[in-house]
Amino acid sequence: MNKEERIKVLQDIIKIKSINDNESEVADYLADLFQKHGIESEKVKYSEGRESLVATYKKGDGKVLGISDHEDVVAAGDESEWKYPPFSAEIDGDKLYGRGSTDMKSGLAALAISMIETKEENADINGTLKFMATVGEEVGELGSEQLTKEGYADDLDGLIIGELTGPALIYTHNPTCSPLYKR
Ligand SMILES: [Zn+2]
Repeated sequence: MNKEERIKVLQDIIKIKSINDNESEVADYLADLFQKHGIESEKVKYSEGRESLVATYKKGDGKVLGISDHEDVVAAGDESEWKYPPFSAEIDGDKLYGRGSTDMKSGLAALAISMIETKEENADINGTLKFMATVGEEVGELGSEQLTKEGYADDLDGLIIGELTGPALIYTHNPTCSPLYKR
């Protein structure tokens, strides 16, 4: 993917209003994006309109690295106080404005793109990348709890969380990786 395509992915998902709900639209978008690049994914339904997404890219029989971010954002508050509308993903100079541009659709886009590019470039890895986009992180961490309970984290040897607004938590060689992550 080139730079414009990468930025468009971020803008597209910021424009989806997934305020601790409606995450299915983000899951649909990412599933389509992965499919266009030959990567299969699986939606995991939490409730109506709320789905996490799990996608894997495997090359070799080495370890499994989880990469995870959440699909939801916190409420935008008083929209009149925003320099640009919160779901416009406006670019001004070298800055992109929008709810979720930091927390954490940029992380989500970066992890999805990194997996796609790892495949496209046939990068020299030996193992599996397991992408997990989760619902409801801002209230209750619902998606990560569900994925953990349903066994999606059982095969992980390590896990990178793309959360940009706090200290990153990285589990490595943790045989259980449960819960998937906690703040
Ligand atoms: Zn976050």
